[in-house]
Amino acid sequence: MVKICCIGAGYVGGPTMAVIAYKCPDIEVAVVDISVPRISAWNSDQLPIYEPGLDDVVKHCRCKNLFFSTDVEKHVFEADIVFVSVNTPTKTRGLGAGKAADLTYWESAARMIADVSKSDKIVVEKSTVPVKTAEAIEKILTHNSKGINYQILSNPEFLAEGTAIQDLFNPDRVLIGGRETPEGYKAVKALKDVYSHWVPEDRILTTNLWSAELSKLAANAFLAQRISSVNAMSALCEATGADVSQVAYAVGTDSRIGPKFLNASVGFGGSCFQKDILNLVYICECNGLPEVAEYWKQVIKINDYQKSRFVNRIVSSMFNTVANKKVAILGFAFKKDTGDTRETPAIDVCQGLLGDKAQLSIYDPQPMSPTTKKKVHCVWDAYEATKDAHAVCILTEWDEFKKLDFQRIYDNMQKPAFVFDGRNVVDANKLREIGFIVYSIGKPLDA
Ligand code: NAD
Repeated sequence: MVKICCIGAGYVGGPTMAVIAYKCPDIEVAVVDISVPRISAWNSDQLPIYEPGLDDVVKHCRCKNLFFSTDVEKHVFEADIVFVSVNTPTKTRGLGAGKAADLTYWESAARMIADVSKSDKIVVEKSTVPVKTAEAIEKILTHNSKGINYQILSNPEFLAEGTAIQDLFNPDRVLIGGRETPEGYKAVKALKDVYSHWVPEDRILTTNLWSAELSKLAANAFLAQRISSVNAMSALCEATGADVSQVAYAVGTDSRIGPKFLNASVGFGGSCFQKDILNLVYICECNGLPEVAEYWKQVIKINDYQKSRFVNRIVSSMFNTVANKKVAILGFAFKKDTGDTRETPAIDVCQGLLGDKAQLSIYDPQPMSPTTKKKVHCVWDAYEATKDAHAVCILTEWDEFKKLDFQRIYDNMQKPAFVFDGRNVVDANKLREIGFIVYSIGKPLDA
């Protein structure tokens, strides 16, 4: 039986390994982590992350061929293939601070693999890493190899939070990069054999290591760029009376452009887009390409601008001050169907409003982390959040917000009652009929 171990039981390691175990009953999968609470949660009925469909997949194979453990060394020792899916945040100090990826966790995982291994291993980069990381990992492993053969593969993950299980069951592509040597090809084939259990052959792409590593950064940069492009247009729409949804529809029907990922919003968030673009910027700078770095920086600049533009719109619409006014925040996660609030635009919007002394009452369908709860007032119900409020700000596109009884909300709010829709989820005209003053991103403004 092939044995797989994944170091890192987070948003990527947990779901990806659960799906491998589900689809490959002949493979034993161990997901390991240094975090005791995280592993306990994976072994309980309250999984540490919320993803539609994840519970069923985990329950189906847990303790059969899927195991969650803190005994990192034992499972690495036993594995034929070791995935590394640890966090790779932006460095906060030292060389490259604020841009470069912090590979501390990765390096310590690699050193641990070298320490405990007694048999040949395929080591798979699942985390998003800078291009050429495999070269560094190879150095660490081979200099400590004790005669063991390591093959490093890059197999970046393209799942999107909120649709992770769907994406993993039916991926657009699986990308595997390896060394172009006989051993490298053999390792690529071994990983291909795992995915071939359910992914059609033509969706498994193989490339050299550096192309695979760079493709992940490139894909996230392109996705974020699309959001910043439509958001930049949304500002122009508001200034001219054009409607960004109509413009996006007209633009997206061009088959060269396509309709997806063209929704204007308060801005992108999540733990990946900004971090990966900063990483790309740093790599460009290190490779003597400042013009290319500048190009990608603009994607983040527009995203920051969109968030501050939204806050300014709220404050200016509410007679230039939100001091001591109750503002209901509906949605805190960075997108719907996830409990993940890392780098969510809601943080910047809330900070902006708090800076003007607003009183915030926050509701998100997913429970907020204890740290967030300490800083802001969180409630368990949209109606409670909006009671006596002067304004409602929608910051996440949760489906349940579309179904709210806005007449009831209006009746219980201070007047004039404002709605600031940062995701264009509500029917602005219906809300106007009720009596709300409505601002929707990129749409013609109320008179
Ligand atoms: P995460 O923070 O949720 O999980 C990482 C886990 O690794 C943590 O639980 C941490 O305790 C564990 N860890 C760190 N060092 C360890 C060690 N030495 N031994 C054992 N465990 C260790 O992160 P994530 O969101 O799952 O992201 C992981 C990687 O995947 C990142 O590089 C990220 O950029 C990339 N990625 C994330 C997404 C996403 O949607 N979250 C999508 C694609 C790729």
